[in-house]
Amino acid sequence: MLIDSHNRIIDYVRIAITDKCNLRCFYCMPEKGISFVKKQSLLSYEEMLRLVALLADNGIHKVRITGGEPFLRKDFIYFLRELSKIKGLKKIAITTNGTLTEAYLDELISLGITSFNLSIDSIDPTRFKEITRRDAFDKVWSCYKAMLNKNLDLKLNAVVMDGRNIDDLIPMVGLGKDQNVSIRFIEEMPFNGSDNYTPELKWNYIKILDHISSHYPEIEKLQDPKNSTSLNYRVNGFKGSFGIIPAYTRSFCGSCNRIRITPTGLLKTCLYDDGVFNIRDLMRADANDNQLLEAIQNAIQHKAKDGFEAEKNRKLMGPVGESMATIGG
Ligand code: SAM
Ligand code: SF4
Repeated sequence: MLIDSHNRIIDYVRIAITDKCNLRCFYCMPEKGISFVKKQSLLSYEEMLRLVALLADNGIHKVRITGGEPFLRKDFIYFLRELSKIKGLKKIAITTNGTLTEAYLDELISLGITSFNLSIDSIDPTRFKEITRRDAFDKVWSCYKAMLNKNLDLKLNAVVMDGRNIDDLIPMVGLGKDQNVSIRFIEEMPFNGSDNYTPELKWNYIKILDHISSHYPEIEKLQDPKNSTSLNYRVNGFKGSFGIIPAYTRSFCGSCNRIRITPTGLLKTCLYDDGVFNIRDLMRADANDNQLLEAIQNAIQHKAKDGFEAEKNRKLMGPVGESMATIGG
């Protein structure tokens, strides 16, 4: 088992398999001038499979594949097929923007992959286009409908942005009236790949909840699942639920159970740190599994107490500002 010095059991890894994306959500990436990682610098599928097998042998039961947009990486389904064979892994989940996903749903289900976070910041096509800088709403909406029809374990992610999608909050909660879907509103974080834009957090979780409660006064607080990053609620009589993720306020760190691997193989023990060591480099220097495990255990031992401590300890990259597509969210 992997345990940190704050007695937190680490049983969840999030792997960003690419930094490339076919959208340009303004809170995540600049519109132009992005230099993507070269193929040889990416952690290869074989390296990722070796890593996940090692982690699964040591108590990591859940993996989330994210990016960038994971469906953009060549042979992604091959990778998932191999991943699904790893013993000890109980759950594979995917975070996707839904632009390319729908065509693969049946195959994913046949692999036992049924948990999806679908990012959709607006259900208004015009606002969606303004936020993502691409005209892809119809594909994402169609993917959402297909996921509902196939009864998948589905969560919708929406970053809450002042002046951008506030008018969406109430209609998005309304999606849960007849559908068993969970909509999660995420506080905007400064991971936007831009030196000159630091969002002011006008919509923290309290303001988001106040806004929703003023429209739906009859809200019940749900029991949050263990290690949940969202505070979860249900409007009385609704099939679905909604959650708020205090990603910037960082009130959930005490029960954190996760580590992250970036597309280039950097291990992060916190979203807000600037990386602990590079797994790809260690593997390519012929480290054996024991050496890899020792390095991972050591990193986990030193996992920061919370995101504020991790942010304070950043040395390599300076202030938080890298694109979320290089971390995975
Ligand atoms: N491309 C996929 C997608 O959009 O779902 C996966 C990668 S994306 C980086 C993962 C999640 O991070 C998305 O739900 C996205 O909304 C969220 N995200 C990206 N930048 C963010 C930011 N600056 N603040 C809060 N959430 C952010
Ligand atoms: Fe792409 Fe996801 Fe970032 Fe949007 S949030 S630009 S879809 S990686």
